Amino acid sequence: MNHQPPANAVNASLKVEPAYPRLRRSLKIGLLASLLVIGACSSTTGGGLVGADRRQLMLISEPEVNAMAQQAYSDVLSDARKQGTLNANKAQRQRVQAITNKLIPQTSIFRADAGTWKWEVNVIESKELNAWCMHGGKIAVYSGIINQLKLTDDELAAILGHEMAHALREHSREQISQSMATDFTLNIGAALLGLGAGTANLAGVGADLMLRLPNSRAHETEADRIGVELAARAGFDPRAALSLWRKMGAATGASGGAAWLSTHPSNKQRTQDLGVYSERVMGLYQQAKR
Ligand SMILES: [Zn+2]
Repeated sequence: MNHQPPANAVNASLKVEPAYPRLRRSLKIGLLASLLVIGACSSTTGGGLVGADRRQLMLISEPEVNAMAQQAYSDVLSDARKQGTLNANKAQRQRVQAITNKLIPQTSIFRADAGTWKWEVNVIESKELNAWCMHGGKIAVYSGIINQLKLTDDELAAILGHEMAHALREHSREQISQSMATDFTLNIGAALLGLGAGTANLAGVGADLMLRLPNSRAHETEADRIGVELAARAGFDPRAALSLWRKMGAATGASGGAAWLSTHPSNKQRTQDLGVYSERVMGLYQQAKR
């Protein structure tokens, strides 16, 4: 017994379907798709004084990305715990925690919900010049960047502010969405060419992007600008972002490149932009110092 309709029956039903309803249906689908895209395109943050409110395409929900980040973060922590590299230097961890604690309340300028996030910061013993903040406020600072660059509190605040800004703007969620859109386009293209649609392993792609995908130039600029505002509002000198980049440039010039710099390209344009935006938020810094 073959329960599939015979091929000629399918062809027949297509032939008898009037052209007009089919056209109307495809128009409806097109309209729905554009509405979905428009609906998914909004800014994750308010602009603050630095005006970071670019509209973003989001095709994956925040809870989904949050779940991936939670998992990835707890994996990193448990690995570090096993190797004895998690918060090995208590005083250093307390210092980083204290600076983070001053920055967190300032995040409400950019988004109201960030104050209720379960922010967490841990220091991992490593020679790497690295730091990151995952979706939802899960931060790691590597001891190498603090020790080798002999960071001042203001410079540490510049790093933390920059990384926190990536999370506030949900840059990883945006990157996953961009990758989904590319996959979707590729799959449609493949289907049209008769190559088969293929399936995207979203969880794998997500976890990979969370840790490895370099931030785009636009994301870096936004993180720089929001970062200096967070630091200034918390009472840290926003101009420290400039000395931080100078130190990074000197250190990585000597060592041939660090992980943090590979995703955070240093250039003249960036330093110029940071110069402009750190001056713009100097008033906030002076106000916070009073
Ligand atoms: Zn960055």
